[in-house]
Amino acid sequence: MKATLIPTISTISVLTFVLSSLSLMAADEKKHATGYTDTPLLPDSKWRVHDDTRPRPKVVTPGKKAGEAPSDALVLFDGSDLSQWKKKDGSTGEWVVKDGYMEVPTKKSGKGGYLITKKEFGDMQLHIEWRAPEKVVSNSQGRGNSGILLMGQYEVQVLDSYENKTYADGQASSLYGWKPPLVNASLKPGEWQTYDIIFEAPKFDDDGKLLKKAYVTVLHNGVLTQHRQDYLGSTGHKSVAKYKKHPAKMSFKLQDHNNPTRFRNIWVRELDFSSND
Ligand code: MG
Repeated sequence: MKATLIPTISTISVLTFVLSSLSLMAADEKKHATGYTDTPLLPDSKWRVHDDTRPRPKVVTPGKKAGEAPSDALVLFDGSDLSQWKKKDGSTGEWVVKDGYMEVPTKKSGKGGYLITKKEFGDMQLHIEWRAPEKVVSNSQGRGNSGILLMGQYEVQVLDSYENKTYADGQASSLYGWKPPLVNASLKPGEWQTYDIIFEAPKFDDDGKLLKKAYVTVLHNGVLTQHRQDYLGSTGHKSVAKYKKHPAKMSFKLQDHNNPTRFRNIWVRELDFSSND
């Protein structure tokens, strides 16, 4: 005898459930459209909550691995040459370039001096890797001393701070002469270390009055060591830093402190903090 397919009560219930779920999902998709135009206005903003007309952020492709330059970065040193750098007199920098790194030359080579970026920067994100000499030949501030002088004057200290008893505001990732790092995240001498730095340039009015201080955030080997820390002013030695009016964009420098410190993989992203206003 031929079997007849008679829907049972439970089959009907299942079908009803599936159909109503599908229609709910369709309604849900509609509800989660690309944005809204009937939501409340955000405080001090022309945008509404989830505003559909608010510009979407620019797309940046991140590096494939940690420390690799994202798509909108300017690479200042990829290990091959010093074409993005100059000396104080404007001539090409003469630091040693070898095996993918650059190194502060010895004093007797006559080729030292600070390295200065050809391009000038204001607010920026900087990635830089550095290595203090493997062999410790001195102590305190004589161990792998260098520095990153943002805008040529706001230093983030570079130093071999691994088991190095030196003053706190002179340690690696300190704001030299002002703020010690939150913690000492140093690796052993001879190991490559990273700094990821977010810098906010100071602002002055036309008369030279300071309107906004410089601020910096530093991750040392991925560990937060400065959190939007203000600078007291232009870094000095054995003196209290002070601000002095300067242009909105300036080169940054790598310090020659007579120690053969090495650098590699240096890139910068210029920042616009108003891009998500
Ligand atoms: Mg220094």
